[in-house]
Amino acid sequence: MAKIIITVAPTGAWPTKKDNPNIPLTPQEIADDVYESWKAGAAIAHLHMRDDNGNGTMDKDKFQETVKLIKERCDIILNLTTSGDLKATDDERQAHLKIIKPEMASFDCGSMNWMHKSVFLNTPTFLENLGKTMQEYNIKPEIEIFDAGMIYNAMYYLKKGVLKEPLHFQFVLGAAGGIAATVENLIFLKNLIPENSTWSAFGIGKAHIPVMLATIALGGHVRVGMEDNVMFAKGQLAESNKQFVVRAANIIKESGNEVATPDEAREILGLKA
Ligand code: ZN
Repeated sequence: MAKIIITVAPTGAWPTKKDNPNIPLTPQEIADDVYESWKAGAAIAHLHMRDDNGNGTMDKDKFQETVKLIKERCDIILNLTTSGDLKATDDERQAHLKIIKPEMASFDCGSMNWMHKSVFLNTPTFLENLGKTMQEYNIKPEIEIFDAGMIYNAMYYLKKGVLKEPLHFQFVLGAAGGIAATVENLIFLKNLIPENSTWSAFGIGKAHIPVMLATIALGGHVRVGMEDNVMFAKGQLAESNKQFVVRAANIIKESGNEVATPDEAREILGLKA
């Protein structure tokens, strides 16, 4: 029986109320959804912020306000994005980390074409800088992998001391411009990482269920939420982020595993005390 960590990613940088009116965008809406998701079994919240027009932003005040509202109510692990706005500068992408000092933050381990529209830039200089910031503030990098080459980047940064073992990976399957969401691709990626690593995965779009089932079978952790999927099932908009967490928790339990609490997740991931 394994303890499996559920991460909830409630907002992301892209989906709008037009895509799904239930997506939380303001600090209060995000905090409410995170609290409900925590009650349903989520141990980690991966957070993005939106400005007052609903666009992705790295505004540190929005992060601070949201984090405060969440911390008042629960002990969920906070995992803050460093990629919430393609136009943000390298400094803006790290400023919130230095103020909030979250337990985790995303580390997008390479650049790619994004959704066939723009470039998702993570330069070598930025990644070295970000890795150092995270070590300085004792923040665990969640190494987001959109394609196989990014794993080899992570191995390079490990050798250089920019990242430290044990590594924690998040496999993002099905983002246009990256690797497709198939079970075969998940197995391929999982077999490339160092054996002492922890890892989590999710699929974007219709493969999110098969990818979750395979992830649990392979001993990984799972991520769910409206950042990745605004549809709960074919033709059915998600009612809330909690709805995804409830389903993931049920599948974990039905498959003979246990849902990790935040404190159990801290132990599994070796987070700061
Ligand atoms: Zn994200």
